[in-house]
Amino acid sequence: VIGRAGFAGVLWTAATPIRKILDLVVPLLRPFAHRSVGAIGENTATAWWVPYFRLVPSLPRPLRFRTNAPLGAWPAVSLQVPEALRSYPGYISDPAAEDAAFEEKPLRDFLDYEYPEIGVWVREGIWRSGFFVKPRLQRVLPNVLKLSRVEPQPPSVEPEPETLTREIKELALGLGLSAVGIAEYDVKYRFKEFFDKEDGHHRVIVCILEENYAAQQTAPSIRSDRATLGTYADIMKREIDIAACLHRHGYRAFLHDVDGQAQVIPYAVAAGLGQLGLNGQLLTPVSGSRCRIMLISTNAPLIVDHPIDYGIPKVCDNCRACVRRCPAKALSAKRDFYRGVWKSKLNTARCLPVLRNNHDCDICTTVCPVQRYGLPAIFEEFERTGTILGKRTDDLEGYDFDGEHYGPERRPSLGREYFDLPVVSGIPRPRPDSGGS
Ligand code: SF4
Ligand code: SF4
Repeated sequence: VIGRAGFAGVLWTAATPIRKILDLVVPLLRPFAHRSVGAIGENTATAWWVPYFRLVPSLPRPLRFRTNAPLGAWPAVSLQVPEALRSYPGYISDPAAEDAAFEEKPLRDFLDYEYPEIGVWVREGIWRSGFFVKPRLQRVLPNVLKLSRVEPQPPSVEPEPETLTREIKELALGLGLSAVGIAEYDVKYRFKEFFDKEDGHHRVIVCILEENYAAQQTAPSIRSDRATLGTYADIMKREIDIAACLHRHGYRAFLHDVDGQAQVIPYAVAAGLGQLGLNGQLLTPVSGSRCRIMLISTNAPLIVDHPIDYGIPKVCDNCRACVRRCPAKALSAKRDFYRGVWKSKLNTARCLPVLRNNHDCDICTTVCPVQRYGLPAIFEEFERTGTILGKRTDDLEGYDFDGEHYGPERRPSLGREYFDLPVVSGIPRPRPDSGGS
């Protein structure tokens, strides 16, 4: 024990200076950034040297406490949504308009396939966060890809759907995921490039893992972005065990990876794991959008969950912190129908320059009270005072940006030249369905 403690102490003492040295050295690799460190998952990891990152050792988990995802299932909370905050389960959608949008133009991965040159540009800006996490991701990725190709023998005896669903959920939570749900597979949410990989699949297991709380509060920062990528590594590791369980029962599993092969939010909402926030992300009741979501599609006969009204649309209407605090003014409080879904829409062309130059930014998650306090505390405050906990306080809404602190009433002044870049000029402005887009 003393020997291990001593070894850990030596590593801990060495970790900070090593990190500082690497922070200086790593930028020298910048020309390779987008094809190596910046490239992470199946969609982007094309350079021949990328797989060798798996040979680079990582710090042991206890020494990664500044960025580690907290493992363990969220405790079951019985949420009493105040009457004034109730609205609708999940989100409002027009299925016919969703289908029409899909027929007209199936979804594609935005940065990897729709605008790959923007993907390269963005990754050149934020790749330093990925440097320390890359070996862990690269050790997991080959297994994710391998298990997705396994064709198990069909089951001789079909298990009871209730029993199998319970087993999968208990396994996922026992492995340390924060929450898990089941949704119906829907090809509409699949990225076009992966259509053929899920033939015959009709269920999607939605895996959620909370991100490190303290790291998120420092966003935008390398630490916060590392925590995000590290959470992906942790969640992919657990996907592998879930897929192995499905295979033992004789069912296929297609594991999505860190690059993403489908839209995750519609599935997470359908599985009752949260609702869509004005920041364009899934807000879970415990940690808001401070979490990562990953999907496994399967042909197993699992029982689907259902959308829930967590009161989030009205919490957002009373809050709007992300809209006020976004340095790019890229978020809107106005909802409309986009591809058949009633939501506010991010102005991507404004968000990306800020994101690229500020470690993935993510201020819209950090200033969110659901991320900071969780829904039970927000409801309690709302019942008591009729206001949203932390609204317009420096504690919640203040952030550091480019070395300067911005309190709740001030945000960085970024001139036109900051956004007026040829690389993002081709991204169309968001237009609601009624606008003919
Ligand atoms: S990531 Fe930053 S720039 Fe983009 S929407 Fe969020 S707060 Fe705005
Ligand atoms: S910051 Fe406020 S408005 Fe934005 S997503 Fe969170 S709760 Fe909704």
